[in-house]
Amino acid sequence: RRPSLRLVPDPDAHAGTPAEAATLLEVLDWHCARQGERVHIHWYDAEDRVHPIRYRELAEGAARVANRLHGAGVRPGETVALMLPSGPGYFFSFFGVLRAGAVPVPIYPPARPQLIEDHLRRHARILANAGCVAMLTEGAAARVAAVLRLQLPALGAVLTLDGLEREPSVIEAPPAAPDDLAFLQYTSGSTGAPKGVMLSHAELLANIRAMGEAVAISPEDRFVSWLPLYHDMGLIGAWLGSLYFAIPLVSLSPLAFLARPRRWLQAIADHRATLSAAPNFAYELCLSRIGEQQLAGLDLSSWRRAFNGAEPVSAETLERFAARFARCGLRAEALAPVYGLAEAAVGLCFPPPSRGPRIDCIDRERLAEDGYALRVDCDDPGAQRVVGCGRPLPGYRLRVVDARRAPLPERHEGLVQFQGPSATRGYYRNPEASAELIHDGWHETGDRGYLADGEVHLTGRVKDLIIRGGRNLYPYELEQAIGALRGVRQGCVVAFAARDPGQGSERLVVVAETKERDPGRRALLRQRILARAGEVLGAPPDEIVLAPPRAVLKTSSGKLRRGDTRARYLAGRIQTTPASPWWQLARV
Ligand code: ATP
Ligand code: MG
Repeated sequence: RRPSLRLVPDPDAHAGTPAEAATLLEVLDWHCARQGERVHIHWYDAEDRVHPIRYRELAEGAARVANRLHGAGVRPGETVALMLPSGPGYFFSFFGVLRAGAVPVPIYPPARPQLIEDHLRRHARILANAGCVAMLTEGAAARVAAVLRLQLPALGAVLTLDGLEREPSVIEAPPAAPDDLAFLQYTSGSTGAPKGVMLSHAELLANIRAMGEAVAISPEDRFVSWLPLYHDMGLIGAWLGSLYFAIPLVSLSPLAFLARPRRWLQAIADHRATLSAAPNFAYELCLSRIGEQQLAGLDLSSWRRAFNGAEPVSAETLERFAARFARCGLRAEALAPVYGLAEAAVGLCFPPPSRGPRIDCIDRERLAEDGYALRVDCDDPGAQRVVGCGRPLPGYRLRVVDARRAPLPERHEGLVQFQGPSATRGYYRNPEASAELIHDGWHETGDRGYLADGEVHLTGRVKDLIIRGGRNLYPYELEQAIGALRGVRQGCVVAFAARDPGQGSERLVVVAETKERDPGRRALLRQRILARAGEVLGAPPDEIVLAPPRAVLKTSSGKLRRGDTRARYLAGRIQTTPASPWWQLARV
């Protein structure tokens, strides 16, 4: 007989994944029963100290929060807002609300009320729509909560997490059902007011399982994330996905990353992480803020999937990121452009494993004229580069249709629709928006694009499309080109169509932020923008507005709000009222 080397069970051994779990609570209980002492999250605090959070600790923290909620009179089925910075308090609270039988509504925590009327208005609207009876908050956000409470009579209780350790760490709670709401996920609000996507436990778990399959996740994987936890990619993709598959999550706050982007990559290197995700702007930030001399000691060879999604993916960013970090061992095949939206929980399309990004070069004119994505040589001066964002996840379907909702063949551009096991039943208390969401059993994404080799290629949003002289213009490419000019703030350019009050014709307006004040240099900048726009469009825009920083409105996740910026422009307020995105103000 061979001697057994492992007579004592290894407390750190992976105990598998809860395939039979039907709710998030069952997932947590499953892990607690089998591997409660394993570390679930490695949390980096503001001083970069790392704190472990075990499965058992998450369950106990959640029970304490649930007891506090019950003490405040929160009843099963009611909605509870989470306005908390990233950290243990957030993790405990999310599961605490579920344990109390209530529905979590995550919103981001802004810091300085006097500067953020726009965001406060959005929060107030979300809380009113969700009918939140209570809010969990902490630290600086508690002051914002007090302001919000004045506007919202239904918001009965604002609860902090102070003294949570005095609450009992066990609770008698009724089990949740698979079709119960797991949480309300408000969309980013890129194209209007945020809408509350209803997601059940069953839908959420279906999306997590499908993503795990597409990524071929294994017990050896490790996820690093600084993404905000009030948002789908950070909340579901990073945290709940890691929880389900019982892989360690290394968790940083968004502001820690924004203050020093190298922290993100260093955490990947330190933990030999295999998975991490971020929107395109984060990869750009690394390129602009991590100098050559800071690359020493940064080993990124363990990173097997660098997801890039949630906003348009730039071919240039992918190429430059791959080239810059190749010397750190980053493999170009690791870069994985992905596509998803809140209405599908989070993920919808993933590229095949270890294939690397695929860039489609198409004739720009042809696309503008008749919506056909004709392949051309990438060196062709009229070539437009579109990044392939993968194929539908297992169990999901995607199609492209024309304005009458008739399906289009490959390489024909139109409206993107999807089906799948996590497609939401609709928006919470919003029958108008819900009625527009589903057509003949297909969910609208609100995006435009085409399929090539079964892979989705996105061209822009339905609401942001500019039709000028019978040609379709896509703001994204134009904005990128202008944002790349020196003197223009990158990522702070929007293009939209505006109707002249006097005439009937549509005018193409470009708003570009600049810090330049010198009149001569401003005139020169305007000329360069005109010239660059002319190259991309074939004709110059009708108006170029050079605006001060923060004139271009963004969502809490940093996405452009073209429609709202346009409204501001039409109201003549573009030069005066600065907007304040979360990543400049929130103390997350
Ligand atoms: P709202 O629906 O309130 O206007 P939103 O659509 O930005 O906001 P989310 O559901 O958080 O809210 O984001 C999903 C959207 O993000 C997609 O519909 C798409 O427009 C964009 N997006 C996601 N991934 C990609 C990608 N890889 N390329 C281009 N756009 C993407
Ligand atoms: Mg949307």
